[in-house]
Amino acid sequence: MNYIIAIDGPSGSGKSTIAEKISDILGIEYLNTGSMYRAVTKYFLDRNINEKNVELIEKSLNDIEIKIVDGEVFLNGKNVSNEIRGDLVTKNVSWVSANQKVREKLVSLQRDIAKDTSFVLDGRDIGTVVFPDAKYKFFLTASPRVRAIRRLEQNESSLSVDELEESIIARDKYDSSRKTSPLKRAEDAILIDNSDMTIDETLEAIISKVDTSYAI
Ligand code: C5P
Repeated sequence: MNYIIAIDGPSGSGKSTIAEKISDILGIEYLNTGSMYRAVTKYFLDRNINEKNVELIEKSLNDIEIKIVDGEVFLNGKNVSNEIRGDLVTKNVSWVSANQKVREKLVSLQRDIAKDTSFVLDGRDIGTVVFPDAKYKFFLTASPRVRAIRRLEQNESSLSVDELEESIIARDKYDSSRKTSPLKRAEDAILIDNSDMTIDETLEAIISKVDTSYAI
């Protein structure tokens, strides 16, 4: 029987690390939806399109093709997996993801990708909007300081820990206050604050709630 595991939460809460491990343990597919918003952001940045060009943003959407193959992200046929993790994309992704038409396109793609088989998806709106009927829903969080330290340890940024913390707080604020699909916990999602938990402890907290009899 196919089922969906939704893992939502702010940046640095460990969603993608945990979701990837769950996918391995349960033998189900994994989709990192943040990487899709990042790829669309890269498309606009490459063309110097900014948040004021609303008409152009919406007109360009038909020209953007995002594909995920074995966890690698392709933007119009080009592998952009590394480039989309950089500071410039991170700094701009919130205004892109606040656009209603961008969200409609990506939500529809996410539903389509996960329609025929079991999936774990991580993002901001998986349990609230993309798959409100998901069998399992989790909302991961941690203090901004802990999340900044985690980002620093990923070596993807040239910012200091204080700057990372500041940028995390700003992105949380933007993501939580936008009109369309704000970052928020679904009422029926299990909340896990993992500020003082290891990855394995967080994983255990999630797996213990999932019926693993389907696992391969
Ligand atoms: O998960 P990650 O930090 O890579 O996501 C980057 C950004 O993409 C988030 O800050 C948020 O603005 C946006 N996003 C979203 N909805 C999702 C996944 C990500 O709005 N489902």
